[in-house]
Amino acid sequence: MKVLVVGGAGYIGSHMVKLLLRAGHVVVTLDSLVTGYRDAVVGGEFVQCDLADRAGLDEVFKQHAFDGVMHFASFIQVGESVLKPDLYYRNNFCNTLNLLDAMVAHGVKRFIFSSTAAVFGEPDYVPIDEAHPAHPINPYGISKWMVEQALADYDKAYGLKAICLRYFNAAGADPEGELGERHDPETHLIPLVLQAASGRRPEIAVFGRDYDTPDGTCIRDYVHVMDLCQAHLQALAALAAGGKSDAFNLGNGNGFSVQEVIDAARRVSGRNISVKDATRRSGDPARLVANSERAKSVLGWKPEFADLDVIVEHAWNWEIKMNANPQVEG
Ligand code: UDP
Repeated sequence: MKVLVVGGAGYIGSHMVKLLLRAGHVVVTLDSLVTGYRDAVVGGEFVQCDLADRAGLDEVFKQHAFDGVMHFASFIQVGESVLKPDLYYRNNFCNTLNLLDAMVAHGVKRFIFSSTAAVFGEPDYVPIDEAHPAHPINPYGISKWMVEQALADYDKAYGLKAICLRYFNAAGADPEGELGERHDPETHLIPLVLQAASGRRPEIAVFGRDYDTPDGTCIRDYVHVMDLCQAHLQALAALAAGGKSDAFNLGNGNGFSVQEVIDAARRVSGRNISVKDATRRSGDPARLVANSERAKSVLGWKPEFADLDVIVEHAWNWEIKMNANPQVEG
């Protein structure tokens, strides 16, 4: 199939491009390079274009007959979304409408959307399945939920079929060491812990040890980036086979605490990691774990890298590479 990967120069999108090419698909990557890196796009055609640029989008859709579109491009910092909601609603919601409108105008009917566990807000229960009500608590989560709702209406009105994949904590890196996470600023736990292990940072701060969890630190469901990408491949195949619009929660189903992640990073890296206890970060639920049974039964998804140490090991290999080549960071 010919697939447009929007945000293919970013963390998850760049892994997706690699997986699609390996699976024999033809790939066009579209990215504004505002947060992505051109050298993270390992093959296929590349177009630099912002989703705000409707004429630019139209041109891309005129030049290519896409069988499907995968959309990874969004701003992802929860704290920033609270301070600058305009940025998040415009980029994550309004600009996504531009993309959907281009699809409708050019008759492209299959869409895979990168959604998030943040659509659920403070969970009513865990593990979180798809029946859990959505009540996002910050502009980031709301912007993603708005897209999910718009997609349901675009299906009814225009027959655009969409699968929303709600990632829990995307983590790890390309097992071959070619790609990895390069956020600036980095806010995610695993890369930060590993930067503390490699010496790029002096220490890791633990945001709260007084949660209602066995060791008092927050529990999250870390899911390997390649497993997320595999789910996208299966979602695209499902739509190509005539499947209906749907949404799936993607996680390992295993929660790990912040302390367990630090312990894994010590084991994998063999390095000493300085830890500083800090106050809670606002808006952090104690426990976020996915129930991904539907993705398994409906899409046939099976996470290959579910082991925390393997996730951390792949991220550590990438961190060593970044640490050796700091100029690559951009
Ligand atoms: N966390 C932490 N120190 C950090 C970064 C994150 O203790 O420097 C904690 C954070 O409070 C949360 C977990 O690690 O409980 C995962 O946070 P992350 O930002 O990676 O992902 P989120 O769950 O917010 O999407």
